[in-house]
Amino acid sequence: MYICVTCGKLMSREEIEMPHGVKCPYCNGKVFRKARPDWSKKVEAR
Ligand SMILES: [Zn+2]
Repeated sequence: MYICVTCGKLMSREEIEMPHGVKCPYCNGKVFRKARPDWSKKVEAR
C-alpha cells in the first residue's frame, strides 16, 4: 500500500500506477511513500 504525501490518501499500487509512472487519482500528486502494514506495530513489543 502507498500513501500520497499530498492528500494523505492510502491506496494500492494498482490504483496509482499509470502508463507514465505513478499518479494519485484524487489530487494528481506524484509523491508517494510506502505504507507499512499493521504487523510492523508488533516490533515495539519490548
Ligand atoms: Zn493525492
